Amino acid sequence: MTVTLLGFSWDASSSYARGPALAPNIIRSLLFNEASSPYSLSGVDISDAIAAYDFAELPAEAEVSRTAITDRVAKVVGEQNKPLSYGGDHSVTYPILRAMKEAHGALNILHIDAHPDLYEEFEGDRYSHACPFARAIEDGCVNNLVQVGIRSASPAQRVFGKKHDVVMLGAEEVDSIPYDKLIAPLYVSIDLDGIDPAFAPGVSHPEPGGLTVREVLSMLSTLPASPVGADIVEYNPERDINLMTAHVAARLTKELAAAMTQGG
Ligand code: MN
Ligand code: MN
Repeated sequence: MTVTLLGFSWDASSSYARGPALAPNIIRSLLFNEASSPYSLSGVDISDAIAAYDFAELPAEAEVSRTAITDRVAKVVGEQNKPLSYGGDHSVTYPILRAMKEAHGALNILHIDAHPDLYEEFEGDRYSHACPFARAIEDGCVNNLVQVGIRSASPAQRVFGKKHDVVMLGAEEVDSIPYDKLIAPLYVSIDLDGIDPAFAPGVSHPEPGGLTVREVLSMLSTLPASPVGADIVEYNPERDINLMTAHVAARLTKELAAAMTQGG
């Protein structure tokens, strides 16, 4: 199976800084250029693995935009490709998961983030980038949710997580990741602020004390199933330094695309 790369230039559901809308094209420009190799760490040629692109503009209105995201992901799945999506902010993940659930049923999800994104609502918005996994759970999109890198969880989100059997691990707990829960159908959602700002400063909500890039790469090479889809979200080019974070996103793209094309 090959991968379709999607760009969702949406940041109007962010609670603080704008900027992630610029992310998809910047990361894409680093994937294939004269200074970078097209190979994953395991030697997969990413220019073969990524067979199609959808970087169309989104409508301006939030609900219309979410429907467009769901429809575009459904189209990719219908074409027997696997969607690898760039945000945009993390609000794009719920509409993506709606389409994935239709195709695969409830998913097992590896979610890398500094934040659990389990708010019932945030600043009056139930579809804020602070809420996507609450909506996904309520909507039956989730079988197992394993969150790694969490270091900013409110008491209400901890209660919500406990109630729904969410595995919530801090960045110091990578040795406790329950890989036996991350079986097919597996989805991977990477919020770049899960990584330490020393490696990925280009995010809207930096939280020191995070994961190393090496730890995330090790997780991706340990996955017991080939992901049916993935996203990389919350890259904020306006906060980045010398494209450091964009290069991290490009490396993660290569590893995810390789994992998605190997096996089922
Ligand atoms: Mn997030
Ligand atoms: Mn986050």
